[in-house]
Amino acid sequence: MTARTSDVAILGAGLIGRSAALACARRGRTVTLFDTREPGESSPAGAGMLAPAMEGDGSPSEKLLIAGRDLWPSYVAELAALSPVSVHLSRDGILALAHDPDEAGRQRHPAHGRPRWRSSAELSALEPGLRAPDGGVLHELDGAVDNVALIAALDFALAAEPRVGRVGAAVGVERDGQHVRVLGRDGSMHLVRFAVVAAGAWAPKLTGLPRPLPVEPVRGEMLGFPVAATRHCIYGNGAYVVARPGGRTIVGATMERVGFDPSTTARARQDLHAAVAAFLPQLANVEPDAHWAGLRPVSPDGLPILGPDPRWPAIIHATGHSRNGILLTPMTAAAVASWASDERPAFDFSPFRPDRFE
Ligand SMILES: Cc1cc2nc3c(=O)[nH]c(=O)nc-3n(C[C@H](O)[C@H](O)[C@H](O)COP(=O)(O)OP(=O)(O)OC[C@H]3O[C@@H](n4cnc5c(N)ncnc54)[C@H](O)[C@@H]3O)c2cc1C
Repeated sequence: MTARTSDVAILGAGLIGRSAALACARRGRTVTLFDTREPGESSPAGAGMLAPAMEGDGSPSEKLLIAGRDLWPSYVAELAALSPVSVHLSRDGILALAHDPDEAGRQRHPAHGRPRWRSSAELSALEPGLRAPDGGVLHELDGAVDNVALIAALDFALAAEPRVGRVGAAVGVERDGQHVRVLGRDGSMHLVRFAVVAAGAWAPKLTGLPRPLPVEPVRGEMLGFPVAATRHCIYGNGAYVVARPGGRTIVGATMERVGFDPSTTARARQDLHAAVAAFLPQLANVEPDAHWAGLRPVSPDGLPILGPDPRWPAIIHATGHSRNGILLTPMTAAAVASWASDERPAFDFSPFRPDRFE
């Protein structure tokens, strides 16, 4: 069979694969995007929170997450020029409620940075329906993006991009001299210079990779309510809420290691509902009208696996984004486009190298 050729193959079309495909094409690369809908894919299931301050806590990911968050306004503006689908971006801040007076005491005197503490009365002024007796912290620059609209916007832009061809599932990769041969599940063969591993939790199942990938699925369940309950994203009582356009509120999320099982459970529905009703009492008597689950691609340290593989640099890893893959979409897309153009990205991605688990 004759192999089809392009510059870059992208194996997986979640947010990471779609955005990387568009970024590569806009750098002049021809792209084959391998796409199949596995049940439980993470990107449409996520909450879309852009929350580095909640997740970063001084770890090596903090710089990456903050830099990634700050790309969003320009990313959404660029996408608006390529697609009529409007992608709502909120940078109103995220509220993190104190659990009890002890935590409130610690949060009131942060070790560094400007004070972000808000009293219970100040929080009520920001969010009239909120019950937060111990106050909390406002992470001012954080927010959320509508990840479902983002997927639709990327699909529109990709369909209009002549350099991108979309095909079915990939089986894996093989060496072919200086090239990578990508095998399609339909028996097709594709010869490329770079292959990008972007299959989320399914990435370890691809054959021929230069190393086993320590990525596993971690299920998260979410609820949707047919009412507008808040303006800000709010974390509290082991749950969070995110406002969605069109007068909806979504609530998440559980973290469970149950393999590739994307089903929902009555237990999570009950627990999430009770957790959020404790700080947003108006949701206590509203029944969720949506309940879904997704499988996060989680690495052993919770950080993404990014960059060319030292054992075979034509294989570019872009997976393991764990709880922050939506936040890191623009950052990852730009980095993949640099690597697939034989360039080094300006940001130092070395802490996220694929060989760090050896
Ligand atoms: C409940 C929940 C809440 C979340 N909340 C947030 C949040 O608030 N903020 C945030 O930043 N992140 C959040 N996340 C995490 C985020 O959704 C993920 O990190 C991100 O979507 C990962 O994107 P991905 O493209 O790598 O994976 P996926 O979206 O899973 O995409 C992988 C794709 O690869 C495809 N695929 C699999 N095998 C093959 C194959 N052989 N060939 C071709 N394609 C293949 C799959 O079908 C899928 O389309 C959340 C996740 C969940 C589940």
